[in-house]
Amino acid sequence: MLTTHDYEAMVIGAHPDDNDFGTGATTALWARQGKKIVWVVMTDGTEGGEVPTQDDKELMLLREREQTNASKVLGVEKVEFLRFPDGHLTNTEETRKAVVRLIRQYRPRVVFTHDPTQHIMAPDPDENPTGTGYLNHPDHRATGNIVLDAIFPFAGNPRSFRDLLLEEGLQPYRVNEVYLYGTGQANTYIDVTETIEIKGKGLQEHLSQFNPDDNQKMIERLKERAAWVAKEGNKAKGLDLQYAEAFRRIKLHVPPDPTIADPTVEEEA
Ligand SMILES: [Zn+2]
Repeated sequence: MLTTHDYEAMVIGAHPDDNDFGTGATTALWARQGKKIVWVVMTDGTEGGEVPTQDDKELMLLREREQTNASKVLGVEKVEFLRFPDGHLTNTEETRKAVVRLIRQYRPRVVFTHDPTQHIMAPDPDENPTGTGYLNHPDHRATGNIVLDAIFPFAGNPRSFRDLLLEEGLQPYRVNEVYLYGTGQANTYIDVTETIEIKGKGLQEHLSQFNPDDNQKMIERLKERAAWVAKEGNKAKGLDLQYAEAFRRIKLHVPPDPTIADPTVEEEA
């Protein structure tokens, strides 16, 4: 099996703008460091609107344009749209295979996606009587599960989805690390002080989703949130961050270091 990676990161979200909220500043930071990044959007985004009579295809294409523009602001190299129906995403053969295909095509070292174990986030009503919680979108949970299943066992197994190898020539590939966003179990905090404003500029491209009057406030809100995340990271890890994005990082595979000679291979005389 080929083990070298082509892309540094593949970021897989359910809807246009999920990757932006979850990883926008980290994506922009890594892109500035010269790392190749591909974004994937699982659904067509056609339930993301307030007008029930709006044509599905029109909304899909509009949101894809917005996502493409946003990803350019951040420095993403490529965006793939899988166009599964918004609001109906499930973990099936079809959805898993589509993600396995992309992982084998792009061979990312790291995959970012939603934390599928995150379902209910709500404060204790006695401790915080006016606070409200939120329920994580089923497409987000489905995406996380589809992606984790695609990474293991299917992307790395030559006998899984065999036509991908035998007919499309896509070699099995093992993703090295997963970074889950929207998680309650963060263990990794990325310093995004340099790119938090760019994250806001990217999100402002999603004009169908946000009132332009709110755009000014968007960057302020993102900064408040990133400052809170940084504080959590400083507490948990003894860091000294101003703005951060948080992830649950899972190391799955450490490829052998090519600079270290394999002692089992005899040198030719
Ligand atoms: Zn979403």
